[in-house]
Amino acid sequence: MSDRAPGFSTLAIHAGAAPDAATGARATPIYQTTSFVFDDVDHAASLFGLQAFGNIYTRIGNPTNAVLEERVAALEGGTAALAVASGHAAEFLCFHALLQPGDEFVAAKKLYGGSINQFNHSYKNFGWNVIWADPDDVESFAKAVTPKTKAIFIESVANPGGVIVDIAAISAIAKKHNIPLIVDNTMATPYLLRPFEHGADIVVHSATKFLGGHGNSIGGLIVDGGSFNWVGDERYPMLSKPRPEYNGMVLGETFGNFAFAIATRVLGLRDLGPALSPFNAFMLLTGIETLPLRMQRHCESTQKVAEHLAKHPAVEWVSYPGLPGDKYYELAKRYVPKGAGAVFTFGLKGGYDAGVKLVSNLKLFSHLANIGDTRSLVIHPASTTHRQLSDEQKTQAGAGPQVVRLSIGLEDVEDLIADLDQALA
Ligand SMILES: *Cc1c(COP(=O)(O)O)cnc(C)c1O
Repeated sequence: MSDRAPGFSTLAIHAGAAPDAATGARATPIYQTTSFVFDDVDHAASLFGLQAFGNIYTRIGNPTNAVLEERVAALEGGTAALAVASGHAAEFLCFHALLQPGDEFVAAKKLYGGSINQFNHSYKNFGWNVIWADPDDVESFAKAVTPKTKAIFIESVANPGGVIVDIAAISAIAKKHNIPLIVDNTMATPYLLRPFEHGADIVVHSATKFLGGHGNSIGGLIVDGGSFNWVGDERYPMLSKPRPEYNGMVLGETFGNFAFAIATRVLGLRDLGPALSPFNAFMLLTGIETLPLRMQRHCESTQKVAEHLAKHPAVEWVSYPGLPGDKYYELAKRYVPKGAGAVFTFGLKGGYDAGVKLVSNLKLFSHLANIGDTRSLVIHPASTTHRQLSDEQKTQAGAGPQVVRLSIGLEDVEDLIADLDQALA
C-alpha cells in the first residue's frame, strides 16, 4: 500500500481485515468459539488484568467481532469501537459507563420509538433520568442541562425519518457544559454523515439497519471519538476513579483516547453480557463491504419516490429533506450532501384509516418494523412502533395518525412507484 490515506470505499472493504494468519483465508473467518486457550499462566493473568490485549472469552471479545469493530471505527473516524448484540445494547452500555443512580441525560424528542421507551421506562429502574429537548430548538438543550446532566443524546438523521439535527450547534452546548455528546448515526451511516466531524464524542449504531443492510442480523456498535477527557473528572467514576474490578486501575488514565470503548467492554459488556455472535459480526461485515454502493442507490431511489409522492393527490405532505422547500433542506445540504437517507414519512389525506389501508394494499413493500434493508419496507407508526406512546408523544415524535414511514430498498424504483400508485389508488 502507498502512503495515500485510503478512501471510504476502500476502508469499507479492508479496514481491520488481513488474510487470516493461520490459513490465508481472505474473507474474515467466523471464529465460532466461546473461548481461547492461554499460552501459559502469566499470559492468562496479563489478559485478565488488562495488561495485554488478546482473546479470553467471546462475551468480551472475538477476532471476527474485532474486525467489525476496527472497520466501523475507521469508517466513523473514531479511535476504537465495541460491537454488541443490538443497537439498544449499544445505547445501554454507553449510559452504563456514564451514569450513576440519580443522574440525568438530555435526549432529543425525535428518536427511534424503542429508544424513547428505553429512556422513559427501563432506564428509570437504574435511576437514570431522561430530560427531553426539542431537536428543532437547539436552545431547549441548553435549558435542559442541570448539574446532574452526564450526557446529551441525539440522532443525526432522526427517526421516523426526514429530520436533520444540527449536530454542531448541540455539540457547542455539550462542550460548554463539558458533557459528552452521543450521536446515534444509524439512519445516516458514516457514508452520509460522520458525527465526529461535527463535534460528537461518542457514536452509536444499530448495525441491524443500513450497516448490515440486508435485514438478516441484529447488532450494535459503540464508537469512541477519543475527544472527551475523562481524567480527573469526578462526575464519571467508571472512567476517572480506581476500579475495584481491575485492582484499582483508572481506565481513563491507562487507556487515554480510547478509554470509553474499553470501559464499555470491560465494565459494561463483561458484566451485563449483551455479546454479538461472531456469525452476526461476519454477516454485518459482509454488508458493510457494499455500504457506499448501497447508500448511493438507496438515496437516489428515495429522492425519486419522495418527488413522486409529493405530486400525488392522495398525499397531503411528504417530509424528505432532499425536497426543495422541506423544513430541513438547508441543514441536509450542510450535513448530508450525498443524500438525505432512505427513510422518510408522508401524510395521507385519509388519516389513520387510510394509513392502515395503505399498508394492507402494498405488495412489493413489506409491512414490518425495520428499516435499512435491501427490500423496501413500510410501516404505519401510529398503529405499530409508536403505539405505546400517548397521542401527544406520537405527534412530538413525528408519528401522528396519518403518517406512513417508508424505507426505500434497492429494487427498481419504477416498480416501487408502481406499487405505491396501485395501493394509493
Ligand atoms: C433500530 C434502531 C435502534 C435499536 O437498534 P436494535 O438493533 O434494533 O436494538 C436504535 N436507534 C435507531 C435510530 C434505530 O433505528
